[in-house]
Order: sequence, then C-alpha cells, then structure tokens
Amino acid sequence: MTAKATAAAARATVYGYPRQGPNRELKRAVEGYWAGRVTAGALHRTAAEIRRANWRQLAEAGVHEVPTGDFSYYDHVLDTTVMVGAVPRRHRAAVAADPLDGYFAMARGSQDAAPLEMTKWFDTNYHYLVPELGPDTVFTADSTRQVAEFAEARELGLTARPVLVGPVTYLLLAKPGPDVAAGFAPLSLLDRLLPVYAEVLADLRAAGAEWVQLDEPALVQDRSPAELDAAAAAYRMLGELSDRPKLLVASYFDRLGEALPVLAASPVEGLAVDFTGPAAANLDGLAAIGGLPGKRLVAGVVDGRNVWVDNLEKSLATLATLLGLADRVDVAASCSLLHVPLDVSAEHGIDPQIARWLAFARQKTREVVVLARGLSHGTGAVAGELAANRAHLASRAASPVTRDPAVRARCAAVTEATARRTQPYPERAAAQRDRLKLPPLPTTTIGSFPQTAELRSARADLRAGRIDTAAYEQRIADEIRAVVAFQEEVGLDVLVHGEPERNDMVQYFAEQLTGYLTTQHGWVQSYGTRYVRPPILVGDVSRSAPMTVRWTTYAQSLTDRPVKGMLTGPVTMLAWSFVRDDQPLAETARQVALALRDEVADLEAAGAAVIQVDEPALREALPLRGADRPAYLAWATEAFRIATSAVRPDTQIHTHMCYAEFGDVVEAIDALDADVISLEAARSHMRIADELASYGYPREAGPGVYDIHSPRVPDTAEMAALLRRGLEALPAERLWVNPDCGLKTRDWPEVRASLENLVTAAREVRSPS
Ligand code: GLN
Ligand code: ZN
Repeated sequence: MTAKATAAAARATVYGYPRQGPNRELKRAVEGYWAGRVTAGALHRTAAEIRRANWRQLAEAGVHEVPTGDFSYYDHVLDTTVMVGAVPRRHRAAVAADPLDGYFAMARGSQDAAPLEMTKWFDTNYHYLVPELGPDTVFTADSTRQVAEFAEARELGLTARPVLVGPVTYLLLAKPGPDVAAGFAPLSLLDRLLPVYAEVLADLRAAGAEWVQLDEPALVQDRSPAELDAAAAAYRMLGELSDRPKLLVASYFDRLGEALPVLAASPVEGLAVDFTGPAAANLDGLAAIGGLPGKRLVAGVVDGRNVWVDNLEKSLATLATLLGLADRVDVAASCSLLHVPLDVSAEHGIDPQIARWLAFARQKTREVVVLARGLSHGTGAVAGELAANRAHLASRAASPVTRDPAVRARCAAVTEATARRTQPYPERAAAQRDRLKLPPLPTTTIGSFPQTAELRSARADLRAGRIDTAAYEQRIADEIRAVVAFQEEVGLDVLVHGEPERNDMVQYFAEQLTGYLTTQHGWVQSYGTRYVRPPILVGDVSRSAPMTVRWTTYAQSLTDRPVKGMLTGPVTMLAWSFVRDDQPLAETARQVALALRDEVADLEAAGAAVIQVDEPALREALPLRGADRPAYLAWATEAFRIATSAVRPDTQIHTHMCYAEFGDVVEAIDALDADVISLEAARSHMRIADELASYGYPREAGPGVYDIHSPRVPDTAEMAALLRRGLEALPAERLWVNPDCGLKTRDWPEVRASLENLVTAAREVRSPS
C-alpha cells in the first residue's frame, strides 16, 4: 500500500458555520429589509460583518482552511439555483428588475408568483427551496457571489475553500417545474449543468482558489445504478477539466455505500467523508476498497449536527486508522455547523456541570483543531486537552442526570403487553361509540387555534416580569374559554382547548420533563429567517407532575362536548430536539413514551374521553438508508403504543401527522394502533384516503379537507367534494372531518369562515338535502 499519509500536515477545516450572527443580526437585517426599514446597502454590510466575524472566529480557533460561499441570505440551495441560472419563469422578471428582491420573491412568493416549494434538507430540521427544472431549463453560470465571498476571506489573509452544492445533489434535490410532466427526471439535465459548474470552477480558480468543495450528500441515500453512473460521469467530466481548482467531493449524514467506490475511482483530488453515527460504516467501506491512494481525505469525525463534546481519543484513534488509507488526512466536523447553535458560552442558564458536556459550533471548531494537532504531532501535543476531555466525558457518564435508576428499571420492565391495548380495535370502537355518541363524519380540529400577537406578547410580558403568573394564566383561561365557545357556536363535535399556553409543541413539554435542557440562545436555522431553539435531551427522562391536565380539564368544564387531550408523541419529542449520543435512540424514545404514558393516564382519570398524541415527525425522522428503516419504525411505533396503550377501551386515542407522502409508512401508521388518525391531505386531493383503503387500514381516519398553509378560505362545496372523495375510500363511520393541521399560524377571521364551511360541508354530506 503506497497510500501512507504524512501525518505532519493534517489541517483543520469545517464546511460551513452558523449564518445568523451571535444575536441573530441577520434575521433582523433581512426582516428589516423586507419591511422597508433596512436598506439593501445596510443588509449587505450586516451580512459581510457576520461573514468576517465568522472567519475570524474560525481562524483564531486555529482552523487552517475556512469555508466560503456557505453563507446565505435565505438558503444555500436557492443560492445554487441563482448560480446556475435556473430561475423559474414566473420569477424571471422580478430577478431581472432587482436580483435581491427577485431572490426573496423566489423564497417567499410575491403578489403574482408563488414561491418555490420548501422541504427538509435530508434528515435535518433545515429546509431548503426545491429547484424547479424541466426539459426547457437553460443553465447559465453566475459565479459573482462565490467569487466575491472568496475574495473577502482572502482579504483577511486566510486560506479559503469555496463550498458549492454539487451538481448531482442539486439535480437530485430538484423536482419538475409546474408545467412539466411528472415523469421528468431532473438528473437528465446533468450534461447541460456540468458546463456551468465548469465555468464557476474556472472563475474560482482564476480568483485564486486552490481547492473547491462540492457537496454531494444525496449520494449517501439509496441510489439506483443509473444515478451512480451519472455521479461517475459527472466527476469524470469535472475531473478531466484542465482549468480548474482541486476538487474535494464532500458527503455527510450517512454512509456512502455503493457510491464510495464510484467517488474513489473518479479523477478528483479529495473526498470529505463523514465518520459519525451511521456514517461510521464509511471506515470499513474505505478499508474494503483499499483506501484513497493519491487522494486527500477530509475526515468528518466531530459530529456536526449534535451538541455533545467529542470523544477526542476515540476520534484520534479513527484518524490514526485513516492515516493508512489516504495520501493525506485532514480533520473536520462531519457536516456544516449550520445545524448546531453558535456558542455554549453564551448560555448562562445551564448548570456549568452540564455545560461542560456540550459543544456548539464554536466549541466544535476547537475540537477539530485539537484533533488536527494531535494527528500531526502526536497525543503528547494535546495531552492537556485530552485530559480535560476525559474528565468531561467521565462526569457525564457518572452523573445522576444521565442515569436515573428508577427510569432505567421502568424501561427494562417494559414488555410486549405494555405496548398493547387490552382489547382489539373492533371492541374498542363499539365501546367508544357508546360513550361518545358522535354523528357519522364527526368534525374536529388538530389542536391549536391562532397564536395571536396578544398571546405571544402575554408570554413575553411574563418572561420580562411585566405581568405575574396569575395574570398570565388568566389570559390563557380567557383564551380557552373563547376558543371553546367558538367551537360550540360553529358546531364542531370534538373540541380542543386550543393550545394557547404552548410556545411550541416540543418545547412546552421539554420545559416540564426531567432530562431535557432548554437553551436561551441556542438558535438553529429552520428556514429563511426562521430559527428554532431545539431542546436538548441530556438525561434520563421522567415526569415530575402532570403537564397538560389542568388546561384540558378547564376546557372540559366549559362544555358538554368531548374535549381532546393534546400531547406531543415520543418520536416527535426526539426528532425536534438534540438527542443523546450515549444510548440508542430507541432507549430515549422509550423513556419519553413512559413519561407520556403517565400523562395519558392522568388525562383519562381527569375525564378525557379522547386523547390525541401528535406524531408529525414520524415520517420525517425515517433514516436515510432503506436498510435502517424497519428497525427505526419498530421502535418508533412501539414508543407510541407504550405512550397510549394504558387507557380503557372506551377512551379514544387519536394521532396526527402532516407533511404528506405517507404512502411508504401506511404499515407503520397501522402499527400505531391509534383509534383515529388525522392526516394532511387537502393539497393531494385525499390521495391518502385511497392509500389507506388499498392497504386495508381498519381504523378511523381524518384526511384533511382544509389546507391550513395558506390564508385562503375553502368553500363548502370544495370541502364537501373532498369528503365525497374520502367516502369512496372509507365508510362514513370511519371517516372524520378535520383540517390538515393545527391553526396556530392562521388568523381568526379565516379560521372562523373556514371552520363554518367545514361543519356545513360535513352536515351536507351526512344528509344530502
Ligand atoms: N396539535 C398540534 C397543533 O395543532 C399539531 C401540530 C403539528 O402537527 N405540527 O398545532
Ligand atoms: Zn400537523
């Protein structure tokens, strides 16, 4: 084996850094620009300051090679669409008139043009704007921004590496545009797209870039032989260009599998490979193909998408193994640090004994630097850092926060029976019919009602001490009273309390459950200018007191109609949080499920006849590789059943999912054994009803008839037509009538009108006049 790396030269690098600035300056500047309060010039200056501050922070931490082009005003996939000139026809005039306004119009829509569709970036909680392509798409290169940002970093005297979304991933993330036949495969445009990448690469070379990184995370998903051939062809073509920088093809989020030999054989100078989580299998993969002789390997050993301090000794051991497998080994975080908060040291509310277990972007950068130094100069050169790291890890492993014997004993005692209702569905259904006495096609909502500005400012007032708890709770009670009265007046059958007390469906529970940590400044970009602060699952989870019983019982006291208890399910509680890396996800899910089981029992004891446990994230948390999905679905559905199966047969368990594309998880939906499921369906014309019917789904379902993603009020005829569509698939006794999702983002006037129409539509379909 000639591929023996020279350890002395290991460099530290990252692929991307949080974009928002330490106090979300970017959010304020962009939203200010939209509102006309901030000029374009001021926006550009704020952005440039954030980029400079980020690069300085990276350089001061000791990073040798900083990324450029990872910054974005909104989304890096949208930036790529601009770079390759693939602006959809309906936005071209706006982009031509003013590139910045046109850019935001593509992201957010304008008076006369709908925005691009938004969807999740692989299995993260970041959302990108989906490129729309068709047979007529003409690509043209625009490297202005890439070249300018590279130049900015160079002016600071830094070694910089531009980072681009790779051509294969770009096309695999795209979908056919609105006027394009559904069968069109964007990947068929590869030959047209590559010359554009060639031009951008030449421009970056001319600007002085030695290396350019092309991100190809789509290659860690299951890919067909044709797709792998396309990837091979793409990197053969780009590799054979004469006027280009050295190419580093990066992948992350999972193992490369069959794509690894394809990339290894391509004439590019380097691969950046993830070695964390399920991607740890890349180590064996690399060994099996004899390594990457003659190539640079950038080893993503520090987990770039979770918040824990790295096990530095373990990473050094991985790096040492890799030394034998490539020409040169450099060190990185596994993916862009976009997916983690900026800086642990900004958190003053976290117990220092726990904060020492955490690493956000800034801390991860230092870990990467320490590992590069250790790899280059031996462990002796980083002995102090290793000793401190050992102490952090030991304190975490031994802490009563992470290990609660009572929780562990309870988890260990779970049996198959813990996760099973006492009676099969037909008997439960009969008992529930007797108890609830609902009409056919019963109407309900998904839980939340508008989170008005008044509610949000009441919460802000409470936090700032401007009002006391009693005053805040009075406002919540008033809101619940109004929401219940409204639902009675409109004539809904199963009511909700409206969730006015919940800041967020995960955070609300995380704040009350032992084992969860919440942050003050741990913002992570969800999409555009929307940032979330995911809670952190830090220790064994338990519930010290009921979390929702008070407001649910209050709502029930106001009406004779059934009020649904409303909880967030175990999988969603994990998927929208940072999870533990020191035990299997399944174990954490089981702990959360048992805590929820207690809450379900308390709700039932307090008189709730209907309890909904939301699992909107069940589908989106699917592992990227098909081979990992059965195991995931097994523990995920078991966790749901643990949470919900302790109830009496005549207590009706509901669940809810959104974000369409359920076709591939109908079996898992069945495995939840919920009595009723509500699903998003309005925009797909009730297709899910057909999917449930053809599967033979035996229980009740409410495919949404009201698309809550837009302010549009659907009329009665439209919803009645959807219901009739639903009735072709499901009988009236098993078909519910509800919106697609919660109403928290909507305004009252449209909610009122839409729900009036929804109830009228249900009545009309029940007994046609
Ligand atoms: N019960 C929640 C609500 O209505 C469900 C939200 C969701 O599915 N994302 O807001
Ligand atoms: Zn939903």
